[in-house]
Amino acid sequence: MAMAELPADDPRASSPAALPSPHTRAYSLKAATKALRWVRKLSVRLVVIALVPAVGLAGFASDVTLGHRDAAEDTLRIQADADELSEVVALRYQIASSELPMLSVSYGPRLGLAPAQMTEILGFDLEQALDEAMGTVRTLVASRPADVDFVWAGQQMTELEQLVRSGQEGTDIVRRYIEILTRLDERADRIARKIVAALDGESIVSGLRLAVNQLVAAHQLARWGGHQLMAFFNAELPGMGFSQETLLDLLPASTAVYQTAAAEFDDIVIRTTRDAWQAFNADPDVVEFNAAIDRSLAGTSEPLLADLDRTAALVRSGLGRQDAYVELIRSGIADVTTAATTLRSEALERLADAVALLLVVGLVSLVLVYFVARSVARPLRQLARYAAEVSAGDVHAPRPSGGHGPTEVRTVSAAFDEVVDNLRAIDAHALALAAGRLDAPVLQRPLPGQLGQSLQASVAQLSQSIADREDLQRRLVHEATHDGLTGVANRATAMYSLESALARNRRRGTALAVLLVDVDDFKRTNEAFGQAMADEVLREISRRLRDLARTDDTVARLGGDEFLLIAEAVGSIHDAVAIAERIVESLGLPMSVAGRPLRISASVGVAMFVDGHTDGDTLVREADLAVYRAKEFGPGRVEVFDTTMRDEVSQRSTMEERLASALRRDELTVAYQPVVSTAGLFVRGFEALVRWKDADGRSIPPDSFIPIAESSDLIIELDRWVIRRATAELATWSDRGLGDDLHVAVNVSGRHLVDRRIVSDVADALRESGLCPTRLVLEITETVLLSDMPVACAHLDQLRALGVTIALDDFGSGYTSLATLRQLPVDILKIDRSLVAELGPDRGQSLVRLIIEAAHEFGMGVVAEGVETDEQRSILEALGCEQVQGWLVSPAVPAVEARTLAQTLAG
Ligand code: C2E
Ligand code: CA
Ligand code: CA
Repeated sequence: MAMAELPADDPRASSPAALPSPHTRAYSLKAATKALRWVRKLSVRLVVIALVPAVGLAGFASDVTLGHRDAAEDTLRIQADADELSEVVALRYQIASSELPMLSVSYGPRLGLAPAQMTEILGFDLEQALDEAMGTVRTLVASRPADVDFVWAGQQMTELEQLVRSGQEGTDIVRRYIEILTRLDERADRIARKIVAALDGESIVSGLRLAVNQLVAAHQLARWGGHQLMAFFNAELPGMGFSQETLLDLLPASTAVYQTAAAEFDDIVIRTTRDAWQAFNADPDVVEFNAAIDRSLAGTSEPLLADLDRTAALVRSGLGRQDAYVELIRSGIADVTTAATTLRSEALERLADAVALLLVVGLVSLVLVYFVARSVARPLRQLARYAAEVSAGDVHAPRPSGGHGPTEVRTVSAAFDEVVDNLRAIDAHALALAAGRLDAPVLQRPLPGQLGQSLQASVAQLSQSIADREDLQRRLVHEATHDGLTGVANRATAMYSLESALARNRRRGTALAVLLVDVDDFKRTNEAFGQAMADEVLREISRRLRDLARTDDTVARLGGDEFLLIAEAVGSIHDAVAIAERIVESLGLPMSVAGRPLRISASVGVAMFVDGHTDGDTLVREADLAVYRAKEFGPGRVEVFDTTMRDEVSQRSTMEERLASALRRDELTVAYQPVVSTAGLFVRGFEALVRWKDADGRSIPPDSFIPIAESSDLIIELDRWVIRRATAELATWSDRGLGDDLHVAVNVSGRHLVDRRIVSDVADALRESGLCPTRLVLEITETVLLSDMPVACAHLDQLRALGVTIALDDFGSGYTSLATLRQLPVDILKIDRSLVAELGPDRGQSLVRLIIEAAHEFGMGVVAEGVETDEQRSILEALGCEQVQGWLVSPAVPAVEARTLAQTLAG
């Protein structure tokens, strides 16, 4: 029963090695998982932190690059403007240089000069010069087809050419030229201002600004040079019909502007233009025409028309000066283009540099991130791996070499190391506990923190429960090996001791005696004094036996009133008999139990092992036979197992063999004794009793072969066979119209009941027969309940769970008290026929009445067996016993007769 106090799922009931692990494992897992998560979070954070400057750097670099890209775009725009300016200026001067041929073509006839004469005077073909000039103008106009000013200028020029060529009045020519040129000049001014403004915004001092300024200056020079030319001829050739309003006083004014523009060139630094400027000033046409202008301004020039040659020469030098302007402009345009290209390529270079910088910065960032990641991530990774190992339960995993990585990582590392140290300490505690070393010094070492405290507390508790458990185990072992009542060894221990004693004595060549002690008529003592007193008697017997035995001898209680003494190294059979006689003498001495004087007697059977081959079981069986014989000759006797007895033993084994073969050959049958209602004698069921007729047709009574079968597993086979046969037969009777409420009671031997096969044997029989489990009664005897109570009770519980009814057989013949009856898993009580035999009108009734009342009190049914007379039946009826069985109704009969009985005695 002590076993039941420790359920299987109680942790204390499991093996000691498994004890501490749930605590430490859970803690280590939790802590390590937490640390691991922390480490991961931190690692992500650190990488992010490392990325921030890298991203900043990259951002800065790309900003710079974008700035350079914008600057490059600006320069591209400036270059486009400069190109546009060059084109506008080029067109303007192409148009301006067409003015003189145009005028000449228009005015020649009016001066009375034929074209050939004009050609001769001028030294070139006017018509051809005009064609050439107009061709170039058209080409330039066509180069910017979407340019409104160009298209307009082109139209104006075409109209003018048509007017002149058709010989129409040409007074408007100069005015129209002024109109066209002014529009282009304004356009050029706008572009130049825009460029200068754009360049002003640039911090970079660029050659472009100079070039543009210088182009503007060349332009002014050429422009006002043109006006100067017109004003000069107007002044020197009066009557040509030029519009006086427009050109009056033009010469001094245009000369003043011209000189301002020329002064600009003194500051020119660009070599090409400076060279061009020098060439310009050295040009003979320029020198000659300038001198003519100076003379005209001074009023010292001679009338032009008087000298045609001089006039032609002046026209030529004027045109030459115009060409020189164009050269100057061209050089200015070239400078602008060069400067713009330079600026642009510089900008592109800077852009390229910036892109390179961006790449470098990006690369540096990557390298930075890599190194940061390496210096942070590697120790973190090691730490994480370590944490994973720890969380997997390996607290002794090698620690990663510390001191690496940034401070944060080292801090985490140190914190984690501390956690692991604690875990290791806990592990050490756990190991000590698991090894059961409750006195290990490590257990005294305090653990840090709250956890440490609770662990220490649970260690203390565990230590206590382990100690309790060990104590309990010791007790259980003692209980398992010793007799609970008397404290001497039990049967199992005795048999074990006997086997080792036999081996020992065989080695030493000494003799060994087995003495079986059986109290005479102990049942009477039991009945007379009650169980408590009887128990006390058994304790006194064991005390006296122990006093008699030598230290090497074993005293054991085999069960009931049977004791065993193993005496080692006895000299001869006489010594053994002497010991037996001392036992009889000692046990025969008066006892005082609970203050009451008492006398018992005991018989002793002796079996000797001298040499040869025998085993413990055989020796005990021999001693058993000897004590049986002793009892036949009266109380207080000693009997030694001898050869006649040996014959009996061999008879027994012959019987065993015969029974086994009878079982195999199906020579056994089952007889059925009806169980009837006490009133009315209606059949309620049957008790199945085995019957054996040997080959010669002789009936062998169960009392002579059942005990032999019970000494081996043969009884299990026999019982199984009877259960199957009985259930099968009862099931067929029901098929043939007999009441299907009849039961069948089958006897189950103690050996079978404590065997684990009992439950499946019964379940199989029920399943095979199809018999309702409630119709099966299993009869057990009380001796089995006393010998192995826990197992028997467990099996009975399972059998009852199947629906089977349990009857306690032969009640009243043994030691079971009415009080213990309450605890037994039993449904029916069968009153032993010895009590029934005693029943008379004025005797034996009180005990039977008591039994019946108690059974009813505990909710049990009562069956009286061995009822032979109607007197017994009526007394039992009066006492409230509901069912009886016995010769009064019928002995056990073959199945066919039993069925007939069931029909005739149906209730
Ligand atoms: P039991 O279980 O107490 O069976 C009742 C015994 O009393 C039977 O003896 C039966 O024939 C006998 N009996 C019945 N009515 C009367 C009566 O009015 N007066 C007298 N004097 N006796 C009566 P049986 O058949 O010789 O069986 C003897 C014992 O053998 C049984 O006692 C039972 O313990 C055992 N036994 C019989 N069959 C089986 C079996 O199949 N398996 C096991 N394990 N034991 C069996
Ligand atoms: Ca029985
Ligand atoms: Ca019985």
